[in-house]
Amino acid sequence: MKKAVAFLVVTWLIFAACAAQAATPSRWAHAYRYGDRTQPRIAITIDDWMYPDQWLPEFMAVAEEYGVKLTLYPSGYNLHAEDRTLWQAALDAGHVIGSHFYQHKRLTEMSAAGVARELEKFQIALDETLGYHYEFLSVRPPYGAGLASGGNGKVGRWIHGAGFDHIVLWDVDETSNLKTALRQIKNGSIVLMHANHRDLLFFRSLMEALQERGYEYVTINELLNITSRIFYVED
Ligand SMILES: [Zn+2]
Repeated sequence: MKKAVAFLVVTWLIFAACAAQAATPSRWAHAYRYGDRTQPRIAITIDDWMYPDQWLPEFMAVAEEYGVKLTLYPSGYNLHAEDRTLWQAALDAGHVIGSHFYQHKRLTEMSAAGVARELEKFQIALDETLGYHYEFLSVRPPYGAGLASGGNGKVGRWIHGAGFDHIVLWDVDETSNLKTALRQIKNGSIVLMHANHRDLLFFRSLMEALQERGYEYVTINELLNITSRIFYVED
């Protein structure tokens, strides 16, 4: 009996050790431009949000009409407690929020500490706006600056150091010419728009035109299977 128990304990210890090694934090952040090209799913992402009271209900109305779950990337300085009901309504509708950092400055002109501070200030502004802690999972650096070579350059390392590995860029940012956008959008696309009048009108025409393709419009977290801030890799 004692032997059997000892065997079980040893087996469990080996299993636990293996399980602990099965996934370790990645050394680098990942800069995504698109998701799985084999699945008919795309993500619509909308940045900046200078006037959420003006544009959020409008974008949400189009999203609801076409069954779109949006990913919203506001800059921290645009987040205010007086807009709480607007942001909460967006979350209640299944949209998600990510960070477009705080001041909307180029991260290339900052330092590791500056980037960490930007994300910290964003989190504080977001939590004060919502009235509780919201665990955003992905970040979108202003202008996509400093990420041309992916997540393991200087900016990617700073973001990783601040505790975030999912850097979301885009493969489509055309919001003037519908034909061009339709040509560029494919399975897995990440579409970048901004919260303004022109892009709102474009969003509506785009959704109308895309109807025949039968895409599913999912959040970034769903498109890229993001479930935590840090990326874990299998050993
Ligand atoms: Zn921006």
